[in-house]
Parts: sequence; structure tokens; C-alpha cells
Amino acid sequence: MKFSRLAEFFGQLEVTSGRNKMVEVLAEMFKEAQSAEMDKLVYLCQGRLVPFYEPLEFGVGEGLVAEALAKCAGIPKPEIKERFSRKGDFGLVAVEALSHDGTDLDVGEVFDRLKQVATASGAGSVGQKTELLANLLSQMDGEEAKHLLRIVLGKLRLGIGDPTLMDGLSFARVGDKGLRKVLERAYNICSDLGYVAKAFWENGADGLQGITVSVGKPVRPALAERASSAAAIVQRLGYAAVEPKYDGFRCQVHKNGDTVRVFSRNLEDFSDKFPEITGAAGQQIGPRQAIFEGEAISYNPQTGDFYPFQITVQRKRKHGISEMQEKIPLKLVAFDLLFLEGEDYTVRPYAERRQKLQQIIGPGDVLSVTEILETSDAKQVEAFFADKVQRGLEGIVAKRQDAPYQAGARNFNWIKLKRSYQGQLQDTVDCVVIGYWWGRGQRTQFGIGSLLTAVYDPDTDRFHTIARLGTGLTELEWVQMRAALDESKTNEKPLSVEAIVEPDVWVEPKYVIEIQADEITRSPVHTAGRQEGELGFALRFPRMVNFIREDKSPREATTIQEILKMFAAQGKTQAP
Ligand code: AMP
Repeated sequence: MKFSRLAEFFGQLEVTSGRNKMVEVLAEMFKEAQSAEMDKLVYLCQGRLVPFYEPLEFGVGEGLVAEALAKCAGIPKPEIKERFSRKGDFGLVAVEALSHDGTDLDVGEVFDRLKQVATASGAGSVGQKTELLANLLSQMDGEEAKHLLRIVLGKLRLGIGDPTLMDGLSFARVGDKGLRKVLERAYNICSDLGYVAKAFWENGADGLQGITVSVGKPVRPALAERASSAAAIVQRLGYAAVEPKYDGFRCQVHKNGDTVRVFSRNLEDFSDKFPEITGAAGQQIGPRQAIFEGEAISYNPQTGDFYPFQITVQRKRKHGISEMQEKIPLKLVAFDLLFLEGEDYTVRPYAERRQKLQQIIGPGDVLSVTEILETSDAKQVEAFFADKVQRGLEGIVAKRQDAPYQAGARNFNWIKLKRSYQGQLQDTVDCVVIGYWWGRGQRTQFGIGSLLTAVYDPDTDRFHTIARLGTGLTELEWVQMRAALDESKTNEKPLSVEAIVEPDVWVEPKYVIEIQADEITRSPVHTAGRQEGELGFALRFPRMVNFIREDKSPREATTIQEILKMFAAQGKTQAP
């Protein structure tokens, strides 16, 4: 496919807000593609060159783009910058500044040259990147350049997430969304949608069956459902395995000989950030190849007590890692085994995985397995829960003994019961910030007074509003929030958002915050769970309890389906 053709499709997507129409446009695009370029097309739609878990970024900032564009358009850089400050989008500046024709580059070639841009590093790399980008631009017309620049700057904003891409793939092959589930299964196992799309194109749905768990490709994490009491857990699971719920970072550790990689819950590579975990996996895990999961949590080296999330979160920093390691050391409490010496363990029952996990962790200070209580007695579960809460942990996670590990699925194989306080919702809600209001009174000084937040609907790949939030942030956090949001503000409502209320400023769904509320109520102003002519759902008295959760991406926010279940469970027995 020619890059100019891809730019045409992007141009169509940009002005399409109806989701079905978007799926159709994507399907048309995929139909015109060759197998060999399918992976590249998918990555470019994701605004990337590699799957999300590979840390390759473009490393291209606004200054560099201005320089490349100036060079290629023969316009002085200050003039380009001035145009950018007026338009707020280098894509639009390129359309205006570039008047030459393109040279009909293929998608494959553009992709390879973008990879050269991204991989240029070290001394002189800024000059190299600028040169490479200017060369590419000189072979593109304005429309192509528009989308190219948005890609390298991370501002593509077509409103398409992975579910929409999968629907598009299915639609292209069979004319409906019928193969989305098969695609999803493969994607959940390898987290690489480009790879899945290529396999699908080459060998159809059958080709996807061949995709299995492999070391180095993170498995999308299994998730927990909620319960309102210990009795409800036992009623559902019978004889269950109950573990403490630690409040840290979920980590998936991949050991392959001497190479150890640690992936976060949203599949970011954390290997460099958590050197004690990569080190310990080398020393404490005997087998050559293994994938296991656990919670990384900071602790007080004097007393051995675990610290709350607010302390652990400081280990997310990119700089001063060894200093942080000294000050806030981490342990990894392991709770599941997904792969061992070439064998896929996700298909085996929990009880067997857990037993094996225990066997492969050798002595050492960093890695251990979670405490466990195996019982069918609700009273024992209740006592275990009370003990964990009393020790400052979040609660418990109960597990079905005979269940496989279901990648990417939230179901009753795992059930969480979290501590809660009188008059509060049983669980916090992870919401995506999609806009803000400037604020009145005291808040005027920060230029931000409240946030418009949303939950996610994976079926339609859309964000629906659920709360306007104005409490729970410190003054510093308001300032930081405003700065973060302004990086991704948009002139109009983002394509992936469904809303009735209008904030002063719209922002691209990017940041997830954790919100505690008193209850879920029906609402005429919010779109979460709203059916034609009916009310939606809202959070009553929302307050932020955790600032930007960098370990969660927007599509990992609480879903509408979860909100409906929490609404239905409201008022039933409260946890002790
Ligand atoms: P939540 O993020 O509230 O939906 O809770 C699920 C998260 O709890 C998982 O993603 C893990 O990061 C964390 N967790 C802590 N302890 C455990 C455990 N013993 N088993 C499974 N998940 C756990």
C-alpha cells in the first residue's frame, strides 16, 4: 500500500465519529493491504513502530520537527514555530508549508525509515533524526506529511483503540465482527496486535490458534471480579484459595536464561526501574525459562512492614534508581505461574500452578510467594480478611482452585474483597480524565478547578462520562494535573468520547485516576450506561484517592459493565 493511500484512510477516520463507520473504513484499508505489511499498518494505526510493550519511542520533539519542516519547506524555523503556535498542530502547519508532490512511497518503506529515526541514538542523534525526517518529508505531499508528523509526535488521535482495530480486521475478512473474540484471544496471549494481524492475514482464524504463550511477549493480565462479603466468595467458589491483596505494582516477570524482563500491568517494560526484581529472578529462580506474576511492593527494611501504594509509587521514577532502591527497596510477592521451561501453564488449574510456583522460588530476600488460606469456611475467610486489613493491606483475593489463567479476562476465577468504610462504595473506580473546568474562587490561581472523568466501554471502544470531580487533589497535584492535561488538550471533544456535559477544556483520554465515591446514582447528565431515552450513571461525592495511575492505561480503566454490576450490588452486605 502506498503511504498516500494510508494518509487518505487516516483523513477519513479523522472526520468519522460513528464507530461502525470507523470499523468500515479500517476494514477497507486492511482489505487493500498485503500480508507482509499488515503488522506495520497496525502499528502505525497505534501511532507506533513496535508493540506497546517494546520501549522504542520516536524521541522526536517539537523543536526537531520544526527544524525538519523548516529545512524541507525552505521556510525559516521561527516562522514555522510561529505558525505552530497559531495552529497548535504540526500536521496542519505541514499541509500549509509543503507545496511539492510526494514520490509515492510505500507504507513499508516509510515504516522502515521511521524506524531509523527512532533508533538513532547517542551523540549527534538529534542532527541525524532531523536529517532523516526532513528527507522523508521532502518525498511527501502535505497530507502525507500531516499524518506522518502526528505519528512521530504521538498526536495521531484518530479515536481508534485496539478493540476497534480488531473489529476492523474481522470485518475485512468476514463482513462482520464475528471473529473479534478469536482475535482477542490471540492478542491477550501475546499483546502484539501487529503480529496477530499478520498471522490472521496469512492463515485466517486457524492461524491464530497457533499463537501461544512465549517468553518475552507479555500476557495480558487476568483480572478480578468483586464480592461484597466473605460469605459471597465462599458461596461462589466453595473450597477456595485466599491470598492477601497487596497494594503495589503488578509485575509479570519473564526469565529467559540470563535475560530477565519485568512488565507492568499495562505491559510497559519496567526492567530497568526494578533492578532488585530482575536480579532476584536470576538468582532465586532455578529453571531457565519462566513467566510468573506478582505484586512488587515497598517495605520498611527495619521492621519488614509493607508500605502503602503512595510510597511504592515513588519507585516509578526514571532517574536516580539506585538511590531509590536504597531508600525504598522492593519485594515481589508472587501469585501465579504462566509458563515454565517451554510449557504453557495458563491452561493448567490454579492449584497446580501455585504448587509449581512455590517449588521454583529458591531462598532469597526479594522473591516469595503470597500467604495462602485454603478453605470453604466463610468465617475463616472473614478472619483472614480482617487480619490483612488490620495489617494495612488492601484486602484479599480469592481464587478458584480449578480455573485456568484467563489472559485479559475479568471473571469470578479471581474475586477481590477490599476494605471499605461505612457509606462508601465497595471498591474504588479507575476513571479516565477527559476534560477540565478552569475553576472559581481559590482554584482560579491554578487555572483548573474540577475534572471531567469517564469509564470505558470495551464493546464500543468509547469513553463515557461518570463524574465531575473537584476534591482529593492537593494544591501541588492540581498544578501537576493541569500541566499534564495541557499536553494533550484538544480543540473539540475527542472522537472516542461520549458526553453530554461540556468542560472548559477537552483532553485526549490518557490519564487514569483512582476515585472513591459514596455510591453510584442515576444521572441525566452523564453518559455511562445510558440507553436511548434513559438516565446514565454517576458517582456520588467522588474524591480522588490516587493521583495519576501510571500503571494503568485509559483502556484499563473501570468498564461500564463493572459499574452496572457495582450498581446492582450496592446496598447488599458490606464487608466487615
Ligand atoms: P484491582 O486493581 O483493584 O482491580 O485489583 C487487582 C490487582 O490486585 C491485580 O492486578 C494485582 O495487581 C493486585 N494483587 C495484589 N495481590 C494480589 C494477589 N494475591 N493475587 C492477584 N492479584 C493481586
